[in-house]
Amino acid sequence: MYCYLCSQEYVGLLTTNYYCESCLRIKRYVNIHNKRVIQILDSVLSRSVEKQNNKVKLEVINEIEKKKEELDLNDSISLYNNKDKLITELKENLKKSKKTH
Ligand SMILES: [Zn+2]
Repeated sequence: MYCYLCSQEYVGLLTTNYYCESCLRIKRYVNIHNKRVIQILDSVLSRSVEKQNNKVKLEVINEIEKKKEELDLNDSISLYNNKDKLITELKENLKKSKKTH
């Protein structure tokens, strides 16, 4: 069988599979991330190898920053959701400390 995307011959387990293993992975990425896959490919592959490496590093840094922001936001939400518990704990600690003095 020949892959519909890369045209390489491959051994497919299912006759209904139009793509080789690698292209099937690419297809899954496109299904999940949609246009972002094209944006990343355009921004990375349209450069020289050295510039590609720099771009990949930059993309990785951007992904890390995004994740950090998400995590910070989740921390804030979690803190907010636990605020009543925290206030109660603080009040109890304050009461305890008053009793001992
Ligand atoms: Zn393929």
